[in-house]
Amino acid sequence: MSIDEKVTIELKASLLSRGINFDIDLFADYTREFYDNQFVYGQTSKGVAPKHRFPQVLLLGEDIITALLRREGSPWNLKIEDNRVNLYLNNHYVREVHLPEKPAYFDKQLSDGTLSQDIIAVAGEDTPGFFFYPDCYYFSEGKPCGFCSMKGTRKSVGKHMVSDFIEEQIVEATKLFQNTKWRDIPLISITMGTCRTDEETRECVIKPIKTIYDALDPKIPIHILAHPPQDFKLIDEFKEAGVTSIAFNLEVFDRDLFEKICPGKHHFYGYDKWIESLDYARKVFGDYNVYCGLVWGLEPPKSTIRGNEYMVNRGIGIASNVFHADPKSVLGKYPHPSEEDILRIARAQSQLYVENPQLGTIFSVSMRSTLDWEIHRGYLRK
Ligand code: SF4
Repeated sequence: MSIDEKVTIELKASLLSRGINFDIDLFADYTREFYDNQFVYGQTSKGVAPKHRFPQVLLLGEDIITALLRREGSPWNLKIEDNRVNLYLNNHYVREVHLPEKPAYFDKQLSDGTLSQDIIAVAGEDTPGFFFYPDCYYFSEGKPCGFCSMKGTRKSVGKHMVSDFIEEQIVEATKLFQNTKWRDIPLISITMGTCRTDEETRECVIKPIKTIYDALDPKIPIHILAHPPQDFKLIDEFKEAGVTSIAFNLEVFDRDLFEKICPGKHHFYGYDKWIESLDYARKVFGDYNVYCGLVWGLEPPKSTIRGNEYMVNRGIGIASNVFHADPKSVLGKYPHPSEEDILRIARAQSQLYVENPQLGTIFSVSMRSTLDWEIHRGYLRK
């Protein structure tokens, strides 16, 4: 491990905590091609729309990426100078950062005319997948999770993304990303919204996963971030369809804060049933192939740390997201966690990885709003 990786992870913690202040049109006329934001799950920065060509992520070092959060008032800022993107802290030059390469399977048309980037959702820099059932009835019940901006995003800047998936489209898109010569695809990342009934989950999520699985050649792992079903039998059905690892994100470990921040999950599903669903899934998928995500910054760090220990002791893997206040969400004005809090939770997580060698991360690459992979690589250890 070089010192640079430790510095870079600390830089990432700071950028996630404070965001970056830069002109909203900074990238609109940038002459080089790059992968710009798809607005699949949320809008993380105020007023940013597809016309701004906002990069999906920034590359901070060889293998570390970060979310790009535009926040006025941050001491961090970006300038484009001689076609280079330079990061400054106030007026001090810090380093050049890079923009993500556009996936080679983008800008292609499926046979029904659908653009590939409107159906293939790329997580992080280069992990392809789909976002099935991009809806959640907690919004219509007035009980969305406080940090979630999915509904507002999909009705506005993300409305070009495919919402109703046709079998032929899924087959074609899967073959397209798997057969296009670009980067290795170690895993496919599926995300789903929240269906009101298990029948909808079967129809709109499990069936399409089976379609992906059948189209894959060779077969590769499929991960899904899902809401647990009412009937646990569906967890077996996810596995039978081809899913190899699954995440049910409790988001907030503290019971009282869970009720406040995730009122829909609390009211329509419940904290205890959530834990039971994780335990059930662990029996189906095996130790540490089931993950529970917590959002850093929505509860005191010691509560997140306790939550992670609790999960690991049950054979459940851990996953995290550093809270970002999305403008279209209930917590749009809530502060981000401080750098100190982020690094404190990160160090505790680092210790958990040392003590539990079986414990891995969902993705084998750096992702934008989490430090999981970097911590697992030991970048924080002295
Ligand atoms: S369950 Fe919560 S996080 Fe998931 S889509 Fe609904 S509101 Fe968003």
